[in-house]
Amino acid sequence: MMTLYCAICGGRFEPDDYHRWVDAEEKPGRESFTRIDSYALHVDCWDRLTAGWMDPA
Ligand SMILES: [Zn+2]
Repeated sequence: MMTLYCAICGGRFEPDDYHRWVDAEEKPGRESFTRIDSYALHVDCWDRLTAGWMDPA
């Protein structure tokens, strides 16, 4: 079975564990990097990461 690693805390989890996928498109400064990367994150880590983000109201 495939093992995933959280892009935030580096912790591993199984694909059927509750988690979140984030797609990241081409990164600036890496011209040869054209594919789309996906990052798996723990939902808890995602909540922590976005806790300080503000919705433009
Ligand atoms: Zn995590």
